[in-house]
This record gives sequence, structure tokens and C-alpha cells, in this order.
Amino acid sequence: MGVGYPECTSFVRGFAEAVAANREYLTQLDAEIGDADHGINMDRGMRAVLPKVEALTDQDISGLFRTVAMALISTVGGASGPLYGTVFLQLSSSLKGKSEIELSDWAEAVLAAVTAVQARGKAQPGDKTMVDALLPAGDVLREAAAEGVPLSEGLARATEAAHQGMEATIPLLARRGRASYLGERSQGHQDPGATSSWLLMQAAEAAFAKGN
Ligand code: ADP
Ligand code: MG
Repeated sequence: MGVGYPECTSFVRGFAEAVAANREYLTQLDAEIGDADHGINMDRGMRAVLPKVEALTDQDISGLFRTVAMALISTVGGASGPLYGTVFLQLSSSLKGKSEIELSDWAEAVLAAVTAVQARGKAQPGDKTMVDALLPAGDVLREAAAEGVPLSEGLARATEAAHQGMEATIPLLARRGRASYLGERSQGHQDPGATSSWLLMQAAEAAFAKGN
């Protein structure tokens, strides 16, 4: 059993559920170093995504991720809408024409998504953004694919890498986004976007590792 369209829709639904369940947590993190809306933004976006995904009929993975991207971009104001829109748009491009995803496909798609986020938002690793969770996850996925580890193991390692990257944002000084306005006062707080990106990797693991 591989990762096909049904697993990709479970991933999107699972991310929506995780965002809803962590809406207050993400918003609280953003209250500390931003404007207290990250959970609200992401939840609004993912709620708008769900009916659009349910309405799809052609079982195309690339089309699914494009639909997610468009819904996020059109419903979420703030930095995270365009940035998560970019993530899903790049997943869509990277996985174009594929009906089954291997670990190596997912690794390259995630890394391409991080590159696209960096091109759009100009964040470098260590700038205290979602890049700090997504990039280590992508790197670990590529390593796992090269080692030939089982899909579920590679996905679990990626979730762990995203979690470590998220925790590693705590001491960092924010250099991008609203948190950067705080300068040194941004230190000692976990980045909200890195936290939602860890949830994203966790949702992928839960959906894709099933039966693999
Ligand atoms: P806003 O900052 O507009 O209120 P959100 O609160 O929804 O938007 O999202 C904030 C998160 O977005 C931050 O925690 C950070 O991870 C991410 N972010 C902000 N700016 C950038 C950027 N330029 N590059 C990458 N990620 C960014
Ligand atoms: Mg905010």
C-alpha cells in the first residue's frame, strides 16, 4: 500500500483537525510575540479548505494540494495565508502527475516547499519562522529516503526533526514577520508558525504512515 489520493485527503483533514484542536495554543504563542491571531488565521483557512476538498471529484493529488493552496490564500490574511498557500502550491507542482507518492517524492516536495517559502518570505534558517521546523523535516526526509528506510520510519523522523526545530526557535531572535519588531524581546518564546509546521508534519505522518 502506498500513499495515494485518499491518504493525501486524510493528511489535509488531519491538519485541519490539528489546527482546530490547537487554535488557542497557536494564538497564545502569537500573543507572546505577534498579534494573537495565528491559530485564528490557520483555523479560518483550514475550515475554508475542507468543503472545497470534499467537492473535488477527480482524485488528483496535485489538484488537491492546489485547491488547498487557493483556499488558504483567499481566506487567510496575515503572513501565514500566503506562506502556507505557497507550501501547498509547491507540493502541488512537485507532485504533478503522481498518483502514488514515495518517501523520496515527499522529501523533494517538502524541500521544494521550504525553498518556495524562503523565496517568498526571505527567511533564512534561524530567523525564527516556520522555515526552522520545515527545513530540518525536509532534510531528514531526504536522508531517510537515501538510506532506504521504511516510509513510516522516515515520516516519524521528520515529525521529530520538525519538533526539535520548533523548540529550537525559543531562544532565537526573530528576524522576519511581526515578531521581528520586538527585537530581543522575541527571545524566549516559541515561534507560532514553526509550531503549526510541526503539526503539518505530524498530520502527514499520521495520514501517510497508515498501512505502510
Ligand atoms: P501575521 O504575522 O501576519 O499575524 P500569523 O500570525 O498567522 O500572521 O503567522 C505568523 C507566523 O508566520 C510566524 O510565527 C512565522 O512562523 C511565519 N512568518 C512570518 N513571516 C514570515 C516570513 N517572512 N517567512 C517565513 N515565515 C514567516
Ligand atoms: Mg499573527
